[in-house]
Amino acid sequence: MAKNNDKKEGVMTNFVLYSVGCSNKCVFCGKVRRGDIKKNLREEYNKLKEISKESNIRIVEISGNDPIEYEKISDVIKKIKRISKTKNIMLSYSWKKPS
Ligand code: SF4
Repeated sequence: MAKNNDKKEGVMTNFVLYSVGCSNKCVFCGKVRRGDIKKNLREEYNKLKEISKESNIRIVEISGNDPIEYEKISDVIKKIKRISKTKNIMLSYSWKKPS
């Protein structure tokens, strides 16, 4: 449940592309296999829609292995902007699946 402050000030949230993988294959994370990207996107878009119902989204951080290796990342960013109504999008590395 969103607090009044979330509506007024906005929140930062994440969008985790845990199925994208990364071609660098570093020892501590490179063993993560590419997964079902369609399922991953569906889950994350739904999460974003739910958050946007209750909060003003100020920043969305896209992570998950290397998100820019996904060939359709520009389409993903456009859709994230449309759902979240923010232009503040960050990209970072991570492999952890959201809990
Ligand atoms: S996401 Fe980072 S740590 Fe993981 S394999 Fe790619 S470069 Fe290495």
